[in-house]
Amino acid sequence: MLTNRPPIVVILGHVDHGKTTLLDALRQTDTASSEAGGITQTTRAFSASGITFIDTPGHEAFFQMRARGGQIADMAMLVVSGTDGVMPQTKESIATIKAAGIPTIVVVTKADLPEFNVDKIKAQLAENGVLVEGYGGDVPLVPVSAKIGQGLTELVEIISLVSQLHPSLADAGGSLEVVVLESLMDTKRGPQAVVIVKNGTLVLGQSLYLGDRLVGKVRAMTATSGERVIEALPATPVEVVGVTEVLSVGTVVTSQPGQPIVVASITPRPIKSEGFKLILKADVAGSVEAVRAALPAGVAVVLASTGDISESDVILAQSTDSVVVGFNVRIPTSVAKLAEIDKVKIYTAQIIYDLLDKINLLVHPLEIEKIVGKASVVAEFKIDGQHVAGCKCIEGEIRKTSQIRWGEKTIRIKSLRLGKIEAESVKVGQEFGAIFSPVVDFKIGDTIIAVEVYG
Ligand code: GDP
Repeated sequence: MLTNRPPIVVILGHVDHGKTTLLDALRQTDTASSEAGGITQTTRAFSASGITFIDTPGHEAFFQMRARGGQIADMAMLVVSGTDGVMPQTKESIATIKAAGIPTIVVVTKADLPEFNVDKIKAQLAENGVLVEGYGGDVPLVPVSAKIGQGLTELVEIISLVSQLHPSLADAGGSLEVVVLESLMDTKRGPQAVVIVKNGTLVLGQSLYLGDRLVGKVRAMTATSGERVIEALPATPVEVVGVTEVLSVGTVVTSQPGQPIVVASITPRPIKSEGFKLILKADVAGSVEAVRAALPAGVAVVLASTGDISESDVILAQSTDSVVVGFNVRIPTSVAKLAEIDKVKIYTAQIIYDLLDKINLLVHPLEIEKIVGKASVVAEFKIDGQHVAGCKCIEGEIRKTSQIRWGEKTIRIKSLRLGKIEAESVKVGQEFGAIFSPVVDFKIGDTIIAVEVYG
């Protein structure tokens, strides 16, 4: 049965505009989570005041990871400094939120400072297509000072209000869908994962599958309060001990072997020539700049820094679909191993021209895929000899024109019916009948993912 679950709120905004400070302050409003350490110290997800918050790294380069955040999230908090105003990453965050199609709350930070000017921010946001309440639109805006604790109660209230208008639903007794938020290889404890339950309930002892592959068994779970827990309900982030491999950020694991579920909201896939992303590591800052300056047009640098190639570079490359290139740096064995598991490509060279040659050879195209809706198959029947899937829309919207991801295949909807009437689209909570083309062998409990592809 679908019931309300806590809203998952993702935070976005320009670096230094106060995201971390705001999250810390929100975390402290919840006594349970401020008492113990637990994963709150390391992870960027936590629950407080009945809301699940997910942080996104602030740097412009983390766009794809943010996109995942946007997808997992029900709502976005767009953080804008009330002293600095709209900056490049604010604009990028606005684009990300729009692509994700989720409700937004604007949080204007640093209200305690004398230069704080909320009217200026409203005008700048309007120029960038975000019309806030009282300024021609209906996007809520909350001024806060995380430093002196001003506006936090109002912010929590507004989040709850928006969440009532756009209820987040999940079936705690339904099929398990767990999204990997963070993933790492701990040299002592082995692979670790911080996950969030999207649907169903994650319990101790649960076997976890990625597609047909068994990828672990839950041996222990720690909540964001630091407490050991025996179950995690929908929208609950937990750290899981017992995964047997470093799972890619954004993958979905389930309780039974089956179709792999694709979750990333914006998935770059090699197809057309538009862009190519890389993570650049070099021995010294001068070489970083030298390589960067000589890169061919159309190459996006996700991260450029000095030092040997690390596990976090590989994880970032994996989640952003980038290639790691290193100039005069080393690849530790554990990192090479992780890259192999994650299928991340690493290229290194000692001579700048060799490296640039390799990069030139690699430069290839992208296509953007956005998930617009999901449905569960709840029944199956035959009408006039046609195999009809009785479905319930559990997320977003499914349009008749949507492409449907079916494992590795793309299928179409031949007929989409609300009762007896042929419909153009269905929304969250609605039950509908669908006939697919080509015919696929669906089962009750399968998830249907509708995507739109932008070339
Ligand atoms: P992030 O990069 O978006 O995570 O930004 P941080 O949370 O790290 O904040 C950047 C800087 O702004 C830090 O020096 C904070 O102390 C400061 N800051 C954040 N929120 C406030 C606030 O409400 N008032 C004041 N005066 N400073 C703040």
